[in-house]
Amino acid sequence: MIFHVLTIFPEFFAGPFEHGVIKRARDTGALEIRIHNLRDWTSDRHKTVDDRPFGGGEGMLLKPEPLFLAVESVGQASGLSPKIVLLSAQGRLFNQQVANEYSHLTELLLICGRYEGVDERVAEHLADDELSIGNYVLSGGELAAAVVIDSVARLLPGVLGNESSAVFESFQEGGHAGAMLDCPQYTRPADFRGWKVPDVLLSGNHEEIRRWRQRAALEKTARLRPDLISGYNVGLGFQMTNALLTKVINKNKRTDTPEFRPGDTIRVHVKIKEGDKERLQAFEGTMIARNNTGMGESITVRKVSFGQGVERIFPIHARVIDHIDVVRTGRVRRAKLYYLRGLKGKAARLRERE
Ligand code: SAM
Repeated sequence: MIFHVLTIFPEFFAGPFEHGVIKRARDTGALEIRIHNLRDWTSDRHKTVDDRPFGGGEGMLLKPEPLFLAVESVGQASGLSPKIVLLSAQGRLFNQQVANEYSHLTELLLICGRYEGVDERVAEHLADDELSIGNYVLSGGELAAAVVIDSVARLLPGVLGNESSAVFESFQEGGHAGAMLDCPQYTRPADFRGWKVPDVLLSGNHEEIRRWRQRAALEKTARLRPDLISGYNVGLGFQMTNALLTKVINKNKRTDTPEFRPGDTIRVHVKIKEGDKERLQAFEGTMIARNNTGMGESITVRKVSFGQGVERIFPIHARVIDHIDVVRTGRVRRAKLYYLRGLKGKAARLRERE
């Protein structure tokens, strides 16, 4: 597979692909990474790639002309019409599923934005996909491109030493993790500062180890990422009896959550870890929506702070939630109260339920 990266900072990529499995794969020809300098497609003396936004506002935007010229020229040279992806905080969220999807491509071209972003016509008329690596804003698309390349490259044939190792990783459908987290792994020593490796892993009994790993992966997922297990219909990539699944889910499912409905004011106490210490932080607001069922159940809580609406989504079975209190009940008709976002002051107040 060939990865193309279009950037105004080609030197950024001198480091990330010079190590470990990616370097080895480049050396053996299992993949190729071609870095293109966007300034090579400018026509003025200063090699200008940016300009001020129409309508005013902060910062500069990457201009469309050099981006279109660069993508067209790289595409023509390759003859294989690469998939064009614009890295953007506003794109669809990158995950293991997208990495799998991309790993079947012959060529992928990643456009790295900079400054305040990229002229919108690039997303609308040039890119096949707009991709974000997370709900946060980076200063440029280069780190995001490195993340995408690294995770896609691991899935290509001949990149990992042991071909099956990518299959058995977190989030990977079809492995023993089955779109869940990987199971806990240990190496020597078997006893480190009194913390012992589970006996079963030292037993040499492969069938027992396989079963322990399945169960431990599921337990870890239920504890740390309950959102990955929605209800009982989990698309597991391995054989697990319903009885075992139910047992693990029930063990991790909270039973101490009080009854509350949309419109109720609740206080969610979240565990915050600071070094070795743990404290509780409370978030009080109106529960405006309940999503998913089973272990993936989450609630959206809204409060108004200094005149600004602030919302947080809490997965209610996650262990970071210490407990939830009901402060006041609210009388509403609907199950989703998104209309509250448009109301202010008294209009946003809800009457109490009798
Ligand atoms: N004004 C933009 C916004 O609010 O969405 C942010 C622009 S950001 C400072 C500059 C560039 O960094 C973007 O054009 C994009 O290429 C890249 N970038 C920022 N956050 C990203 C993310 N979460 N995923 C992928 N690329 C990101």
